[in-house]
Amino acid sequence: MSLAPGTGPVQITQEQLQARIVELAAKIRDDYRGREPHLICVLNGAFMFHADLVRALGVPCTIDFLQASSYGDAKQSSGEVRLVKDLQFPLSDRHVILVEDIVDTGITMNYLLHYLEGRGPASLKVAALLSKPSRRKVEVPVEYLGFTIPDAFVYGYGLDRSQYDRNLPFITSQD
Ligand code: 5GP
Repeated sequence: MSLAPGTGPVQITQEQLQARIVELAAKIRDDYRGREPHLICVLNGAFMFHADLVRALGVPCTIDFLQASSYGDAKQSSGEVRLVKDLQFPLSDRHVILVEDIVDTGITMNYLLHYLEGRGPASLKVAALLSKPSRRKVEVPVEYLGFTIPDAFVYGYGLDRSQYDRNLPFITSQD
């Protein structure tokens, strides 16, 4: 485990993360005027982003958590997505925002969107902190995107490197 930044091409500081999250929260507040958003955190990677986003929202909202697994500890997607932890609350009449750490191939997000649509929410949108468009295999709509990044393995701020380094307050990458 290292608590120091890597030297790869992606470096997003704590200040840059927080500033962007404030912008995303303002846009969500605007878009959801008169409607209460229900923000679903995709564990584990999105836990910090989700916490900071709901805190920055500053309006009444509800939250829930789910967990999907496609990677295990590997850095390449197996292409098979499995639900590891289900939602606690029903989605009927809820204005759902699915909060994800990173959209890579899009396979996980595509699976989760179909799953959530099947639970009949009043509306469904996606907030993702990071996107690697050059890696996309399935197109998925991301309404609220933090940062577009190149094809590099990133960690920190909730994202792991072999389960470690999630507690870094910034995003960094390895070569
Ligand atoms: P996808 O299904 O879009 O290929 O992958 C989505 C999931 O893979 C993310 O939620 C995340 O858990 C993991 N993932 C993809 N790229 C990275 C990365 O660069 N770093 C880390 N730590 N996880 C990643």
